[in-house]
Amino acid sequence: MKRRLGAGRRPSKTGKPVVEHQRAIHIKNLKHLKNETAFSISYPDQSTLKAVLRRDRLFLILIAEGKIKIKTVLNLINFEYLGRSRKYLLCPNCKKKFNSLYFNDKNIIACRFCHGLSYRTQKQIRQDRLIWNAEKLRLKYNLPPIFNTIHDKDKPDEIFKGRFKTIQDKIYQWESESHKIFMNWVKDAVELDFKKSV
Ligand SMILES: [Zn+2]
Repeated sequence: MKRRLGAGRRPSKTGKPVVEHQRAIHIKNLKHLKNETAFSISYPDQSTLKAVLRRDRLFLILIAEGKIKIKTVLNLINFEYLGRSRKYLLCPNCKKKFNSLYFNDKNIIACRFCHGLSYRTQKQIRQDRLIWNAEKLRLKYNLPPIFNTIHDKDKPDEIFKGRFKTIQDKIYQWESESHKIFMNWVKDAVELDFKKSV
């Protein structure tokens, strides 16, 4: 049986929940785990996942806001690849093997496909980097906040005019490129909405 488990916690820019925003458990968390030794993972929202491995079964308790949110058992499978055995987590919903599983809003654990999660797209990653580069330079030279015009009077005394112009051009270039990505996304989103409504 394969079914979609619905929305995750936070929508991405495309409206779809993003993998990076979800509480997750990764197979690498279990790498050094000995049988029957408990370990815990703390998430940024202050919740904690406690886990114990016992004969390829992983017993989990998710604690949030001082309450046990869910108790569940995951199965691990051993998969032979190039003569080496590797462990994977089995998605309780679709029964396929994964390196990572995620909790959704309702604290149901499943793979990213069952939850309908997406990875950040290359475009989003590129846009983040452009904005971050511009931001860093603006901070370094104490310039006005991102997307604001840089005036001659903003030039720090220790920097020559030519160099200042280069910095200014670089910042504008990064910001306009990131703006273009943003506007393309708006265009796509509007078109998608339009298609849905007709
Ligand atoms: Zn699944």
